[in-house]
Amino acid sequence: MPRIRFNGITKTYGDHEVIKTFSADVPDNEFLVLLGPSGCGKSTMLRMIAGLTDITAGELEFDGTVVNGTEPKERDIAFVFQSYALYPHLTVRANIAFPLLMSRFKPYHHLPVVNTLMRRRVLRDPDVDAQVRRVAAMMELTDYLDRRPRTLSGGQRQRVAVGRALIREPSMYLLDEPLSNLDAILRSQMRAEISDLHHRVGKSFVYVTHDQVEAMTMGTRIIVLNEGVIQQYGTPKEIYDSPANTFVARFIGSPPMNLIRCRLDGRSLRFPDGVTLKLPEGCASPSAPDRDVLLGVRAEKISVAPSDAVASDTMPAHIIVSEYLGAETVVAFKLGRRADQTEQDTVAKHDLQQARIPGELHLTPGADFTVRLDLTNVSFFDVDSGERLPVAVPEATR
Ligand code: ADP
Ligand code: MG
Repeated sequence: MPRIRFNGITKTYGDHEVIKTFSADVPDNEFLVLLGPSGCGKSTMLRMIAGLTDITAGELEFDGTVVNGTEPKERDIAFVFQSYALYPHLTVRANIAFPLLMSRFKPYHHLPVVNTLMRRRVLRDPDVDAQVRRVAAMMELTDYLDRRPRTLSGGQRQRVAVGRALIREPSMYLLDEPLSNLDAILRSQMRAEISDLHHRVGKSFVYVTHDQVEAMTMGTRIIVLNEGVIQQYGTPKEIYDSPANTFVARFIGSPPMNLIRCRLDGRSLRFPDGVTLKLPEGCASPSAPDRDVLLGVRAEKISVAPSDAVASDTMPAHIIVSEYLGAETVVAFKLGRRADQTEQDTVAKHDLQQARIPGELHLTPGADFTVRLDLTNVSFFDVDSGERLPVAVPEATR
């Protein structure tokens, strides 16, 4: 619960259009990730879903009902913010129970002594206690319930913040970059915990991040956003394998997808340094013949061939940088032999390509080598617009 429908949602601040006709249908119980660079409008989208920010135009529907005018507290939503403010003077127990305390709050509870007494009474309530224990067990915080936040590690504090969002069992969870303050190990641990939580509670999650690893590992569906415009909406696999444009191709994947300019002539790919590769039988290619394209090849589809290999899928290249990572080595290279480079050929970043090769292969910067391109599953993009070109398997090779 629930199915979320974004119907042409637009948000403007003054004359700055921050979200531009955002439309998508998200089925029940998905883990939807809004992914994009800083400032692209992710938090604004999340705040509109929560009802904390007005929608300028368009409709937001939960299960077929337009909720544009619905108050935040009527939307049955839990929100975890990027900066998870815990109350330092309250115990973990009281921090987790806080939404329940608030729901029983009366105006006269503002008086300091009354406030403390009321809090103690609510926390002793068997129902509240049972709910706090359920959440604490889920977030592995049972042993910390009587501690104050400052005595906890960053990851434990983050779990308290998530736990606080879980106590009410809403129908939807909204999380805004909840892991960005954590170090790498805790981040990967919390990624697994949040995914696990999604499986256990079976509710809709909308998760905002600029981190493509979080999006790929946690999302059941991803919306890639740039400058308030949806670039692509799909499963992690669809987005990784078939990026809709060069922005998505470069934003997803580490290293990003290689984009190599070449001329497509029928089934041949002609590269600037005179090398011609042939697309293998039976694999799809854009139907419009004889045009310049950007060939998109993932780093793991490029391998090292014996240096004297001359085959229909190999090209000469030379190493610029080699990064040894243990299990694999990421090499940045330029196409063409080193000796053939002219003086003016400075190493511009855009014509460096990257390959992921086995860690035990040692390649020295400056050395010539031969790359083999797996052309069976490549992408083609328009040189000017950067849009993915539709492909088809030609009759003759089918
Ligand atoms: P993200 O979360 O993707 O980093 P935001 O949604 O926070 O991006 O912001 C998107 C754009 O909207 C930014 O250019 C930001 O400056 C602008 N913006 C956000 N909130 C406001 C506001 N309350 N008033 C004016 N501009 C805003
Ligand atoms: Mg944000």
